Amino acid sequence: MIPLSVPHLSGNEWRYLKECLDSNWVSSVGPFVTRFEQDLASVVGSPHAVATVTGTAALHTALLAAGVEPDDEVLVSTLTFIASVNAIRYCGAWPVLMDAEPDYWQMDGQKMSEFLGRECRWVNGALRNRSTGRRVKAVLPVHLLGHPVDADPILDAANQFELVVVEDASESLGARYKERSVGTLGKIACFSFNGNKIITTGGGGMVTTADPALAGRARYLTTQARDDADEDVHGAIGYNYRLTNVQAALGVAQLERLAAHVERKRQVAMRYEEALRDLPGITCPSEAPWARSIYWLYTVMIEPASFGRDRRSVQQHLAEQGIETRPIFRPAHRQLPHRDAQAYRIDVADRLYAEALSLPCSVGLTDEQQDRVINALRSLAGRRG
Ligand SMILES: *Cc1c(COP(=O)(O)O)cnc(C)c1O
Repeated sequence: MIPLSVPHLSGNEWRYLKECLDSNWVSSVGPFVTRFEQDLASVVGSPHAVATVTGTAALHTALLAAGVEPDDEVLVSTLTFIASVNAIRYCGAWPVLMDAEPDYWQMDGQKMSEFLGRECRWVNGALRNRSTGRRVKAVLPVHLLGHPVDADPILDAANQFELVVVEDASESLGARYKERSVGTLGKIACFSFNGNKIITTGGGGMVTTADPALAGRARYLTTQARDDADEDVHGAIGYNYRLTNVQAALGVAQLERLAAHVERKRQVAMRYEEALRDLPGITCPSEAPWARSIYWLYTVMIEPASFGRDRRSVQQHLAEQGIETRPIFRPAHRQLPHRDAQAYRIDVADRLYAEALSLPCSVGLTDEQQDRVINALRSLAGRRG
């Protein structure tokens, strides 16, 4: 079986884990937590980083720290893992779902500006959605599949309409937008270290920000909002979202390997592109001139009329040959819990969802395994590789 994307633990993981066990520091206090935060902050180029138990917890924390309140609205990509949208609801706020653009499959900043200009208006100094009357507070762009979103149009619109930008960089640690790392583009950002991400802590996440007040707020909220540990005084409703030392130990070791992981992901992507780009009906992912993608999940579009079969059929045929593939995320406006959310002029996201298939692309994928995937796809297309 060739898996889609599995962890690659080839560095100091054992050594650092042993240090945790030998020193008895296994829980959410311990030297690796701080070290992981500092190392990640330095890799991303962000002044502050706060570790959390999951990427979803990081998103929730970032939205709260950014000042998102009950009944606010947050603009978010519909083409994303559902956690981005759920986190908005955890705050008691409401998502407004935005379309993707067709070139790099990221959130469409132009449509977003159009929504703000046409569908919102200023009432007593607050931007309100005309149709719901609610305050529009923030925008949550997602750097999807390892490629950065075209951030400048989103940042400009956010500036003009006074929205806070919260980046969901869960899938794109190491990616760059015009020489700047994802996770430093907006006011606050989050990362995930779930098992299938570019580096993993088993489960884990991180909030990054340049704003010390937001970092302090995030740290406070993730540690039960404790004002005084001796007297057990809590000043707000906080959360137990702190990463443990054991997980952080894995994180420190994995982060040492990040550059190598990105390099390998990019090699795998280039090899797929070479081998598949001439197949009719297959579109390989493009990297924008302003982007450095980490190609987290190598995803192709399969246009059924020209390829001869749709992505479901391709997925099934590859599965029969022991090759695991997966469609991308079903857009949020097609998910039961968000069926009532406002969705603004969405069409590209639906087409991408219908055609997208992610191919095996683990850091540890061998050339022989990749050749098997390539040959299987080429023979399905009616050609021998
Ligand atoms: C993985 C992921 C998350 C959530 O991460 P967890 O660590 O699994 O909670 C959030 N957003 C996106 C876009 C993701 O891909």
